[in-house]
Amino acid sequence: MTAPIAAADVTRHKWWGWGQDDVAFSVTNRPAFIDLARNEIGIDLANAPAPVAPVLTDHEVPATRLPGAVREQLAQALGEDAIRDDDEHRVLHSFGRSLPDLFRVRTGAFERLVDAVVYPGSEEDVAAVLRIVLEHDLVLIPYGGGTCISGSVTPDAEEQRPILTMNLGRLSRILEIDDTSGLARVQAGMYGPDMEAELNAKGWTVGHFPDSFTFSTVGGWAATRSSGMQSDKYGDIEDIARGLRLVHPDGVAVTKAIPGRDSGPSVHEMILGSEGRLGVITEVTVQVHRSAPVRQVIGYMYPDWEHGIRGMHAIARSTDVTPTFTRLSDGPETKFSLALSSKTPTTTKAKVSAKVQDGLFAYLRSQGWDTSEEMCLSYVCFEGSKASVEQQKSIVKRIVKANGGVTLGASVGKVYDQKKFDTPYLRDFLLGHQVFGDVCDTGATWSSINEVHTKVYEAFEEVQRAQDLPGFMFCHMSHSYHAGACLYFTFAFPYSSEEQALEQYYRAKEAVQQTFVDLGSTVSHHHAVGVEHRPWITEDIGEVGVRMVEGLFADNDPGRNLNPGKIVAS
Ligand SMILES: Cc1cc2nc3c(=O)[nH]c(=O)nc-3n(C[C@H](O)[C@H](O)[C@H](O)COP(=O)(O)OP(=O)(O)OC[C@H]3O[C@@H](n4cnc5c(N)ncnc54)[C@H](O)[C@@H]3O)c2cc1C
Repeated sequence: MTAPIAAADVTRHKWWGWGQDDVAFSVTNRPAFIDLARNEIGIDLANAPAPVAPVLTDHEVPATRLPGAVREQLAQALGEDAIRDDDEHRVLHSFGRSLPDLFRVRTGAFERLVDAVVYPGSEEDVAAVLRIVLEHDLVLIPYGGGTCISGSVTPDAEEQRPILTMNLGRLSRILEIDDTSGLARVQAGMYGPDMEAELNAKGWTVGHFPDSFTFSTVGGWAATRSSGMQSDKYGDIEDIARGLRLVHPDGVAVTKAIPGRDSGPSVHEMILGSEGRLGVITEVTVQVHRSAPVRQVIGYMYPDWEHGIRGMHAIARSTDVTPTFTRLSDGPETKFSLALSSKTPTTTKAKVSAKVQDGLFAYLRSQGWDTSEEMCLSYVCFEGSKASVEQQKSIVKRIVKANGGVTLGASVGKVYDQKKFDTPYLRDFLLGHQVFGDVCDTGATWSSINEVHTKVYEAFEEVQRAQDLPGFMFCHMSHSYHAGACLYFTFAFPYSSEEQALEQYYRAKEAVQQTFVDLGSTVSHHHAVGVEHRPWITEDIGEVGVRMVEGLFADNDPGRNLNPGKIVAS
């Protein structure tokens, strides 16, 4: 087998934020977005100086606590190049991409950093590191792309033992494709885009596209029970991951790559979503599908949320269509999306399309629509043969019309499809202006979805009133299932001071999360538990459920060496 890539070649985020160093969000030529920020949260982006990137040397980085002899043992096992304990490595790997993590990393809250980062190049290396961890009573945190937004890779501030983070990025290959069964064995540290590119070249796709796709890994998806935007067709990671290999304190646990299983409680399911608490996933066998010859995203507009949800539900229930994804933005999110995408038109093409949009909105207003606050943008993606896509499009067009909506067409859908992975850069931009922008998601049944939507807005408005802070919230529905769907809320507000910032953030987040569980919805649909959602785990899975999970972790990791404190405190 070819040698693994060098540790130095593993893709990494900028140490303080999302993605690549040379990519950033900008408000240049975005007058509608500037207006929205001013009107909704009182921020003057037009006259504010451009945010300045944080500088690591402005902050004090505490020395590593890893004993020299242990470092030497690790270097002997993996090679010197595979052990990194420079400041930037330790800082980058001590934070995920949750809002509190981004705030802390930018402000130099470095009281407890991981002590070193190791880069195993094989499953044997992973096992060797785990032996050293157990021998010296260290803590081990597995790390894929570090995109988690629930504090799952962040070390416990009170941890006194030396902490190692294990970056899986060198395990980045597709090992085998079983063309007959449609299964691919993929190493856990492989990034989404690398995997899809290699599979696409052979006519395959996994079809798993979380919004964090560009910087997250196959092992991270499995360890967090990830869900991609195309889950309507391809399923969530628990449907996609058919087999796993996990390096565990007692050896390697293997779950066979089979279509179904009937061997008592599912060990496979225990490993999915375990967030590094049972060991290190080294390999995931994923289902692969032949890439569809035709793929089209079509845009629609509904007069309001209730009509849109009825349309989405009817599409989910239809026996005649199997969309790849369905998505409905509510009124505020539609306003946000239009403001974000609308730039001052400079080319003839852009001027024509702006005129077409103005004409459409004027027509909708003449039909009694509220085009500034209420109307809801929707996207549906179709894949298949040309004939099948055309047939499904015409069925969905009829469903949308029957529920009061109109079809916008393919060009608006194309823009959405091209820009869908760009928004994470916006959070860093807002933080540079002392504005928090964050997300909370939940799974709700069709019968409760409108109530959850309404009550979350009420809870957020109330908490912001109590904090005497402005706030802007918007929401979309995605990940449609037979019984319900995911509601994905985004909220933004300027914090009043660095000292009060996180307290203000947690009050807003708690109001939203508590509303989810009070209404019987899940604490999260696809953002894992980590530490950020841990306060609601008992309300989510019940006291008995928590005891079962605690027992699982205590039995498999009695010394609490494996990412302790994540999911449950013990
Ligand atoms: C902007 C943004 C958008 C997002 N959108 C989505 C989305 O659409 N859908 C979605 O599901 N999630 C989303 N997320 C959350 C996050 O991307 C997912 O949880 C993702 O699966 C994490 O993958 P990762 O490789 O980055 O894992 P990491 O963040 O590195 O790790 C996450 C957890 O998994 C553990 N882990 C990682 N690799 C392994 C391994 N090989 N073995 C054992 N444990 C391991 C870690 O210890 C940690 O507990 C988003 C996050 C951001 C910041």
